[in-house]
Amino acid sequence: MQILHIPQDYRPRANLLQGRNILVTGAGDGIGRSAALSYARYGATVLLLGRTGSKLEAVYDEIEQAGGAKPAIIEMDLASASEDSYRTLADALGNEFERLDGLLHNAALLGDRGPIDSAGYDTWRQVMEVNVNAQFALTRYLLPLLQLSPGASIVLTSSTVGRVGRAYWGAYAVSKFATEGFMQVLAQELENTSRIRVNTLNPKATNTAMRRLAYPAETPSDNPSPEDIMGAYLFLMGDDSAGITGRAFDAR
Ligand code: NAP
Repeated sequence: MQILHIPQDYRPRANLLQGRNILVTGAGDGIGRSAALSYARYGATVLLLGRTGSKLEAVYDEIEQAGGAKPAIIEMDLASASEDSYRTLADALGNEFERLDGLLHNAALLGDRGPIDSAGYDTWRQVMEVNVNAQFALTRYLLPLLQLSPGASIVLTSSTVGRVGRAYWGAYAVSKFATEGFMQVLAQELENTSRIRVNTLNPKATNTAMRRLAYPAETPSDNPSPEDIMGAYLFLMGDDSAGITGRAFDAR
């Protein structure tokens, strides 16, 4: 797999996402929170999806205080959402928004790390539900709204362990391989029939709660903060990446 990087000197223009409606999953914390704030700063109306209402409300307040377009909050637990709830969500968004211009699949669970021969089935299934099945269901039901955009972008969050397998990373690694596969299949299906582009983005080591849990021996501040990697998130979401689809990116 060839890994691409965004141009090193990339500087998004101030109105890059003006008038765009962008949904971010896992928008209450970590990289998703930063992406939601950045997208709003560059003009987007951001739809904040996550499982913890208080975190989403804090991001909502931050966007409003910074003078951004009024966001929307979608409180939803992707580990237990039914197919019907995805359908209902898509209908509700269709009533409220003319179209959807961007979808950042960012929410994920780390799950347990350890050998496959002792992996717990319940945790395995939960990781797959959030990291893989929710991506499918959200995309599946939001595609009609994305088709209405003059150039929508779907960005799926990958990982280094989703590109080359690594022992003891279990369901998480497998879910990120599935994410790469989903991106490739969907990108090919949409390439000649729509203006939607689909790519993966690996943030690489970033100082968040998930990173601190995965690597307790690291000094957290040695890793870049989510704010430090937003150039790649903006590049792939905005028109500067128009025409690029089916590709795997690293944030740095
Ligand atoms: P994080 O700080 O743990 O944030 C994950 C977000 O996903 C949180 O907002 C969390 O909600 C949400 N989420 C988890 N389970 C959910 C569920 N069942 N329903 C809805 N939302 C749910 O992780 P992060 O480091 O920012 O990770 C963001 C993405 O980058 C993930 O896809 C991760 O795999 C990927 N990644 C991260 C790194 C890194 O070094 N940080 C490296 C490679 C890839 P709550 O806040 O309510 O828990």
